Order: sequence, then C-alpha cells, then structure tokens
Amino acid sequence: MVKKFFQCLSLLVVLSLAIFGTAAAKSNAEITNIKAYDINDEILRIEISLDGNVKLEDVQAKITGSMLTISMDRTTPGRISKLSGTKIQTEKLIKKITVKETAIGHTKIRVSFKAMLEDEAYKMSVQPANRSEKQPAQVIIDVTKNELKTEPDKKVPEEKQKFKVGDKVIVLDAGHGGSDTGAVGPHGLTEKEVTLAVALKTEKILKNAGMKVVMTRKTDIDVASPNASNSVELQARLDKAPPQANLFISIHCNAFSNPNSHGMETYYSNANSGGQRLAQLLNEELAKHGKLFNRGVKAANFYVIKRANCPASLIELGFITNTAEEELLADEHYQNILAGAIANAVKRYFMN
Ligand SMILES: [Zn+2]
Repeated sequence: MVKKFFQCLSLLVVLSLAIFGTAAAKSNAEITNIKAYDINDEILRIEISLDGNVKLEDVQAKITGSMLTISMDRTTPGRISKLSGTKIQTEKLIKKITVKETAIGHTKIRVSFKAMLEDEAYKMSVQPANRSEKQPAQVIIDVTKNELKTEPDKKVPEEKQKFKVGDKVIVLDAGHGGSDTGAVGPHGLTEKEVTLAVALKTEKILKNAGMKVVMTRKTDIDVASPNASNSVELQARLDKAPPQANLFISIHCNAFSNPNSHGMETYYSNANSGGQRLAQLLNEELAKHGKLFNRGVKAANFYVIKRANCPASLIELGFITNTAEEELLADEHYQNILAGAIANAVKRYFMN
C-alpha cells in the first residue's frame, strides 16, 4: 500500500550544528544536533544529541495524527533554536522538524510526518555520553514505518498500491502452537509465541506491499488437533497453502542443551526446487538486520520444506535457550526487525 513511499526513502536530515562541546556542568543540557535517517526498510530513527546527559523520565514523546511531539525537561534548544519553525527539506517522509523552547529549561521538538502514525509506533531510549568514544548524550526515537498510514485524502489509487511483482501468495507458518509450545527459554519464553508474533508482523508488511499472505495459524492453536501426530500436524500446515502459493516460509527458534549455543540459520530441502535461493536470501537479510551470529544456510529434510508445493524455507531466528537471544526474541522491536528482514527476502526473491 505505502511501499513506493518507503522505497524511495533514504533521507538523511542533518541540522549540521554538531559540536560536541566540552562538558561544562550545568543544569540544562543543550541540544547540539538532530538527525533523522533510515535504519532499514522498517525503522526510521530520530537522533537528538545533547551536550549533557538527560534522564528518560525527563523526555516524553507523543503521537497525534501525523505529528510526533518530543517534550524534554532540563534542556535548551541552544543553537538549534535558530532553526525553530524552519522548513527542513526531507522530501519523502518528514515534512518538517521544529525546535522550540516553550519555557525556560523546557524544549519541544515537533516532527511533522507526511503520513498518519499509529499511537504506539515508536520506541524511545536515552543514551548517556561516552567521552572516550566521542559519543554525545542522545535521545533516540525509532519510528516503525510499517505503522505509517497514508492520509486518507492522499490515497494512492488501488491499482498503484500493488507490489510491482504482481500478486504473489506467501504462506507464513508460525512454528508450533496450541498444545505444542516448541522450545522454552530459561526465562519461560515459548517458541510458539515468538514464531506467531514474528509471522503476524511479517504478514502485515507483506500485505502492505500488495502481496497475499496465507497464515497456517493466526492464534495460539494446534493447526490439526492437540492430539495429532507430528506428521499430521505438519501436513495440516502444508494443506493451508493454496495451489497457487508462491513461497512457504516456516518460522522457528532454535534450542540446544548448551545455553551458549547461539545464532541464526536457514534451511532448505534438496527435494524442493527454489528453496535454496529462498533460504539464501532469508539468511542474508536476517544476518544483515537481525545481526546475530550467522550459522549459515543448510540443507535438511524437515517435513514442511521437503513436501511444500512451492519454494520453501525453514528459518531458525535465534536460540531461545540462550539467555541473551531469548531476551531479543521476546522484544517487540526486535521482532519487527526480523519481520522486516523476512519481508525483504521475499521481495528480493521476486526481483529478478
Ligand atoms: Zn521449532
């Protein structure tokens, strides 16, 4: 739907007044720089640098329609204030950014987007200054672009919303579910909930790109029945794929008795044509965006990828039995990044 809009988006907005001045102790931190740039196809980052540390409780963000308002206590706009009200040319996604000192020690930054945002479409964090690495204190706001909706009055005609490659049908198989939790992490995270969350997020991105998505499950259920054998359950998942399905992607998390085992890997079956290329692209995108140790692209005869009637791959997002990776897999922000990576691989599969 809003694909085009994002594709041409590679904006790098810099209010280039970056001077990480010497750290004089003072009550209000001064804003030294504001940047907006793409982290990947899914995340747009707004980075506010300051010459002194700020606490998370001093910063508030709010989304109203297409406006992201960031209110900061104990800060002053400093030199940036001269740009107050200035229109910043970002062309694609951001209309303008304004910075204003609304009261002494209170700064308001308004980022006006060209499209509507959903209320919860951002994640905010605060980073203290790191002098040795010449890294200023920063407030970082990641806006999920998937959540951006085109304004109703500027709707792209139905025809143009379609993804270039035409109507592809993608089957997403969230591994396990219902009576079968799959692997369980040291803090109790279940594989079935991670695979479903990532599958649902991927579905959303692919649908926005104009593709048809078939989910083997959309809730916490056994696809066949709680008492079904493994092969009956897995066959029930394959049976969800319509005859015209173009790709089948089965999403899983890895597990091992050694809690140090870590990393991501993707699988294909030699019995499935096209699967190797799909597994390769998924591996590249997951490595690039998920940034876990890459265990590679492997051949195996898992039931679903061996018997799928279209190119198929099974992916292991990471080790749920590894404490650090369990924490990542539970994180919604990280799940969005993984979903974006899977969607990128799907798009690339049809590119040439
Ligand atoms: Zn699994």
